[in-house]
Amino acid sequence: MGKSSEEDQKSADVRRVKEHDVVIVGAGFAGVAAAKSLGKAGVDVLLLDQNSYHQFQPLLYQVATSQIAVSTVARPLRSILRREREHVSIRAARVESIDASKKTVTTSDGIHYRGRILVVASGAEPNFFNTPGAEEHAYPLYSIDDATRLSSALLGALERASATRDASNEQAKLAVAVVGAGPNGVETAGAIAENIRDVVAKYHSEQFAADSCEVHLVDMVDTVLPPFSKASQKYTRTQLEKLGVKVHLGSAVSSVSKTGIKLADDTRIPAGIVIWAGGLKASHLLGPAGFTTGRGGRVDVNPDLTVPGFPGVYVLGDTANIVDAKGRALPQLGSVAKQSGNWAAKNIQAELSGGTRTDFGFVDMGYMAMIGRGKSVAELSTRRYQLQGPLAFLAWLGVHVMLLSGWQQKIGAVVSWFRDYFTSSRPQVVVHRPDVYEQARHQGPTTAIGESSGD
Ligand SMILES: Cc1cc2nc3c(=O)[nH]c(=O)nc-3n(C[C@H](O)[C@H](O)[C@H](O)COP(=O)(O)OP(=O)(O)OC[C@H]3O[C@@H](n4cnc5c(N)ncnc54)[C@H](O)[C@@H]3O)c2cc1C
Repeated sequence: MGKSSEEDQKSADVRRVKEHDVVIVGAGFAGVAAAKSLGKAGVDVLLLDQNSYHQFQPLLYQVATSQIAVSTVARPLRSILRREREHVSIRAARVESIDASKKTVTTSDGIHYRGRILVVASGAEPNFFNTPGAEEHAYPLYSIDDATRLSSALLGALERASATRDASNEQAKLAVAVVGAGPNGVETAGAIAENIRDVVAKYHSEQFAADSCEVHLVDMVDTVLPPFSKASQKYTRTQLEKLGVKVHLGSAVSSVSKTGIKLADDTRIPAGIVIWAGGLKASHLLGPAGFTTGRGGRVDVNPDLTVPGFPGVYVLGDTANIVDAKGRALPQLGSVAKQSGNWAAKNIQAELSGGTRTDFGFVDMGYMAMIGRGKSVAELSTRRYQLQGPLAFLAWLGVHVMLLSGWQQKIGAVVSWFRDYFTSSRPQVVVHRPDVYEQARHQGPTTAIGESSGD
């Protein structure tokens, strides 16, 4: 390149750097909370996300198991932030790289953005722990795309099994293995088992559901729901087994293939569909951004959520290792992410106006997990008040309605849950994945559950 064209390129690059007071990468729980609080306070914000919508990850498993519609868990960012639109700009673009020392971000279309303050809240990614075959054959459940792909695969496999009805042939069955018995794995395995018991039995036949459909839940640790109390773990395992889930604990998955999984103790579990709920790693953007990464590949942040050595840079939610006032590492949860977004917004306002930042004060509401209709466990507040069964189920419903963003989404979820509770029907869900259906078409018929039921 000649000197003048190099200069032209440089000045074109400079023109392409767009400046904002605050640039936020990621519109998950943390990014949206920060953008909303800052927008309300009149701070100029740019919010960047690869999607034009916010996705509610805690209910993705219900999309994958056809319990609720995609529109219940996705809400357009422009709708969430419409009242703050004067101050918050939104760009749906994939961030390719971050330079934490310069507080710049580059999107895939080559545009650079710089903030006086940079907030990184780009979440996490599935971690397959280099398990042979896992990335290739297992279904992760981390995005709406993952959930619709899995939903379509489950429906396709169900229809193929129904067309064959050969219970003696393990490859002809609907066999699902869920890897990871944390809350995500437990909820997913429970929902699939309940679908088999209630929906498949109703739309196909009880005999077919009993003979040709099975769900396995696998974990290397020797309990389900490791962070919960012994009583919650015992209740959860009992309820899962009552639903027909085959629980395999204490042996790691050593490989995944098209036809199932192999455990370290040499057990082979035949499964046409393997769902990976086995762990997360931090966003791939962090290391190249210049951050030193710590536990889980995340960034160790100061108690005020800024990053040591990077003035004006905040890392939030699942991308950060956040420690509370007592020195305990906080888990990767929606509540931690949302509260860290709100707290960072207060500190950013203080920083921009010459005030003082304060240390993150996390309000611990506890944990909960749903096993099936009327069956949940909850351990509430820092005192971990334990609830099981219908009361915990009601608490689970209430908390998730409260957390869902948007009235239409809240109403949609409640209507679906009521209908599911009383009728076990799936009339509202249509999955359209021509790519998956096209593949399945060559192996057998595929129609969505309820497509021809007329209810
Ligand atoms: C299946 C599942 C179930 C869960 N259930 C619960 C639950 O019941 N309760 C609970 O408290 N927590 C639950 N969690 C955890 C909770 O969802 C996360 O802790 C929370 O979403 C983290 O919020 P975040 O803002 O840090 O990241 P996220 O919500 O993951 O948001 C990150 C955002 O960054 C965007 N992004 C990432 N990379 C790029 C890029 N290169 N360019 C542009 N944008 C990018 C993504 O599109 C996304 O919008 C669950 C998680 C999963 C996956």
